[in-house]
Amino acid sequence: MNKKTLIKVVENIEYFEGYNSPQEIYLNLGTYSDFQSILKVMNGKDVMLFCFLTYERRFLVDLSKLYDFIISNYSEFTIGEILNHNPNKECYQCDGGGNVGCTQCYGDGEVDCSDCGGDGELECNICDGEGEIKAVNETLVKMTRYLSYDINFTKKFENMEVDEVISPEFYNRLMNRKKFLVINDFDYLFEDYEHLNYKKMEEGDVFLVHEKSQPKLKHSSGKISVW
Ligand SMILES: [Zn+2]
Ligand SMILES: [Zn+2]
Repeated sequence: MNKKTLIKVVENIEYFEGYNSPQEIYLNLGTYSDFQSILKVMNGKDVMLFCFLTYERRFLVDLSKLYDFIISNYSEFTIGEILNHNPNKECYQCDGGGNVGCTQCYGDGEVDCSDCGGDGELECNICDGEGEIKAVNETLVKMTRYLSYDINFTKKFENMEVDEVISPEFYNRLMNRKKFLVINDFDYLFEDYEHLNYKKMEEGDVFLVHEKSQPKLKHSSGKISVW
């Protein structure tokens, strides 16, 4: 879709006006059935531009200038957050059930078994029947992948080291400025001894994982992916 056409689409479609961030617009692209035929002729960059421009339109910005600015300044970055050092994990012995088969009677529970009292099962001695154990030496990390054209942040990320911790003030400002799209979001269990940097961080710490300027974008039904 060329620039003129995309801006015309942004100016003429009104059903996304009530949404309060580019992200909300992005998440609701599939809500309107008559928008689907337009989505089909958009490429990944068009979808990103549509979400940003449709949100910014309400502030009476020059859409043509903003279009050019986004095209030359967008970048993709991944931010990690330490959710939990040593999180609970399903017990490896009882597979989370809390009980194991009695080894005395082989789980049959026959012959007034003295170990299990005839139940055929015993409380798991690894997790004390809880079904969960602390995953020592492991860390639960949340990874979030963003697209943004907010150069106050993307330029700073360019100069940051991988695994460098981002101050909470800086991170909160980024979130409040709403100039981003979350394109991916997942939790990941890391083994600390392979990732020395995570050992130094505390729960709640946010850090830069990856930054890439102007990646290629594609989309399927409005869901953008980076390649
Ligand atoms: Zn167990
Ligand atoms: Zn038994």
